[in-house]
Amino acid sequence: MISRADVEKLRSMRAPEPAVLSLYLQVPLDPAGIRGLAAEAADLMGDVSARGPDDVSTAGVSHADRQALLDALAAHGRDWLGCTVAFFACDQLGLFEALPLPCLLPERAVLATRPHVRPLLAALQRCPDYRVAIADRRHAWVLSVSGNRVETVARQSDQGPRSPGFGGWYGLETHRVQQRIIQLSRHHYRATAAILQRAADLGRHVPLVIGGHHDSIAGLLQALPPGVREDFAGSFTADPHTLTPARVRELASPVIEGWVARRERELAGEILGEAPGRLAEVGLPACLAAVNEGAVAHLLVAHEGMIPGFACGRCGALSTGSDECPDGDTAARAVPDLLEEMMQRALDGDGQVTVIRDAPFIIAAKLRFPVTTEGSRR
Ligand SMILES: [Zn+2]
Repeated sequence: MISRADVEKLRSMRAPEPAVLSLYLQVPLDPAGIRGLAAEAADLMGDVSARGPDDVSTAGVSHADRQALLDALAAHGRDWLGCTVAFFACDQLGLFEALPLPCLLPERAVLATRPHVRPLLAALQRCPDYRVAIADRRHAWVLSVSGNRVETVARQSDQGPRSPGFGGWYGLETHRVQQRIIQLSRHHYRATAAILQRAADLGRHVPLVIGGHHDSIAGLLQALPPGVREDFAGSFTADPHTLTPARVRELASPVIEGWVARRERELAGEILGEAPGRLAEVGLPACLAAVNEGAVAHLLVAHEGMIPGFACGRCGALSTGSDECPDGDTAARAVPDLLEEMMQRALDGDGQVTVIRDAPFIIAAKLRFPVTTEGSRR
């Protein structure tokens, strides 16, 4: 599955001409659908060459790149059933990548000077890798989920309390045994928390889902050190003894979906709560001005489609019209998607980018400093 490193590697590639093909293609779940796939890919590639970013016809996808893509589809199409696959091809750069994505995304072909990675970023954020801890009073099981792959990270079994009926003969004893059970459980939850801490220490902070009976979820949650507690995304109740890795993923994935949607809403709410023009901007013109000033701390892109525009070949300013930069329209270079360009600029400037859904804006930005240029207030 894809990682942030894949995105960064692709981001570092650049061609002098708009010769880098990015194609997002949905491979049907039904193997019978594979037959029509080459024609569909060819259509998408044909469309991008006919139109070109500024409605001027371009040279289009090179024969070599088209062929490499169709060959990959013929050879591996069946490995990708039910997936959206991202292809990046540029013969000139020696680039060819085919990356199956962890979630479904709209189909799209783009020809630009660098790989079009906005949908890739959306996939990483919407379907993140995550960890699941399943615990009862004696056992713990930690799994790591990436796309549809589920791996066991650790499994542990404490000697713990043996049987709840262990000291049931005398009332007094029962109380002591109960106390002992609570102590042992605490010890066990702390040990499980330590496993999660070690996983987090390896530098990979991923959302954490806890599954099990009510009291074990609460027990484990209480034992989590603050650094791990931050990663807690939610929980599901289940009898740990009935769980298989596939079932764990089935139960955890709606928890993760809910967590992602919640975070998206919170981010959008934070920006909308800021007074516009101070440390937040909403809408394309204001955000373009903020990007051009290098003021973006966090860019939220909510629009899924592409918005064609221009980049000045001299100063780099991004704009919706070819005559907006003082350098004039001879310096303007058409770009197929302003949102992608803005995202790239924000990342280049060490800003954060989040691709969100269902927001009441196309794009919004948290700023490092207020942008006071004329353009920002239009
Ligand atoms: Zn300029």
